[in-house]
Amino acid sequence: MDNNAPSQAPITSPAGHGSREDAIKQLAAATGGDGTLVTQLLNNPFFTAGFGLAGLAAAVRYGSRGLAQVGSLLRQRLLVDVEVTRHDKAYDWVLNWMIAHFQDQLQPTQSRKHVGTIEYLVRRFTPGLHHLQVRTATLRSANGAEQTAFSMVPGQGRHILRYRNAFIAVNRERVGKSFDADGKPFETVTLTTLYHYRFVFEELFREAHLMAQQSTEGKTVVFTMQNLGWKPSGQPRRRRPFDSVVLEEGLAEKILGDVREFLNTRTWYLDRGIPYRRGYLLYGPPGTGKTSFVQALAGSLDFNIAMLSLSQRGLTDDLLNRLLLEVPPRTIVLLEDADAAFSNRRQRDEDGYTGANVTYSGLLNALDGVASAEERIIFMTTNHIDRLDDALIRPGRVDMTVRLGNATEGQMARLWDRFYAEQDAHGEGKRRFLSKAINAGLTDNVSTAALQGLFLYNKGDVEGAINMVDQLKPQQAGR
Ligand code: ADP
Repeated sequence: MDNNAPSQAPITSPAGHGSREDAIKQLAAATGGDGTLVTQLLNNPFFTAGFGLAGLAAAVRYGSRGLAQVGSLLRQRLLVDVEVTRHDKAYDWVLNWMIAHFQDQLQPTQSRKHVGTIEYLVRRFTPGLHHLQVRTATLRSANGAEQTAFSMVPGQGRHILRYRNAFIAVNRERVGKSFDADGKPFETVTLTTLYHYRFVFEELFREAHLMAQQSTEGKTVVFTMQNLGWKPSGQPRRRRPFDSVVLEEGLAEKILGDVREFLNTRTWYLDRGIPYRRGYLLYGPPGTGKTSFVQALAGSLDFNIAMLSLSQRGLTDDLLNRLLLEVPPRTIVLLEDADAAFSNRRQRDEDGYTGANVTYSGLLNALDGVASAEERIIFMTTNHIDRLDDALIRPGRVDMTVRLGNATEGQMARLWDRFYAEQDAHGEGKRRFLSKAINAGLTDNVSTAALQGLFLYNKGDVEGAINMVDQLKPQQAGR
């Protein structure tokens, strides 16, 4: 307080303006009197004495604080928020749900400058999605070809949507400046609506979840190793029909039966404290359907696949261990080129080689370490069974070993039927094809992949396929 201020005088002035009532009267008079409020206040000696200013400042301060508090109270009472972070599964579900629901309201992003203030405001605050973001997914097929798919998701910023009579404000925003291991920024989506409509959230999330489920229904998600973890590789793929992979009579059903039995005996394993896992080894020459069979099997069990080649560069023992402990639920693990781990051992033993690759003991440790209340089904494939060590073929590591060989006569006949059932209804063409193949010594000597290639080349052309039999080159049967 300023003790030297001349305004001290009026407080004790003989005019008798010193009491609290007088001060109130003065303020009242000031607000209703002549001249501007500010001039009057400033001219008012009581006010300028310091009490007034301080009081006003305090009133403003408490007033605005009070307003803010009332605001936040009202907000708490009247509005309800749901926040979903990018790392929650529901994040993508909600964004995709928004697009699916408001597709017809999509409008290109335009700035105020382009469309004028009024139209900008109308667009900005009418329900719908006004700024979108493109998402590009690249799918790499087995033959190395790349397919690119685009999809739209709501962009960053605020959107207002109308759903079941409720207005929902959606705010998608970045949090901080950091990025996660995949190089994606941290983000959240916050949905806000009136407290009265809070129940729409439950419905909204249920719909979004159902939509996400339906988008993978009838499909197999293929996980591959990316950034030291399992990530879906492209969009879920259409399930491969189980009978599209033609193995020796009854073999596919035998493996499927074994996996089914394993899945039905969970409590048997848990009751005995045995890790609930089962390993399979498929071996044989290339192109005999090892990889395709596991894909078809996963489809028929409604499982996904986590695929990894043990010869993949940069795959270390530690990483393999970690990956096998972090397999997504309902997912079959497919470890291809299992022999790679054994060749690495040889290199280490003889040459002291210690490359960043999986070793034999690393593979065994990783397989032994798999312990989960969830089932773990691990398929390993190799073209070179002779390079594997007996230690691998032990219960809990490999419980069932199956050889998939080159096409037998029976497989040739069944594969033929899959391609020419219509054109060769009586099987006359098949008989000619088979007798030519047997004479050329092709049975058990060509891969099913080569045979399929010939049938694909002569799609719908029975005679063409028969004429080309001789062009199939016998291979050395792989053991
Ligand atoms: P592998 O893993 O034994 O090397 P793949 O499963 O990768 O063989 O097969 C390569 C291609 O050949 C795939 O397009 C697959 O459809 C086809 N193919 C191979 N074997 C069979 C089979 N037994 N039945 C049907 N198609 C097969």
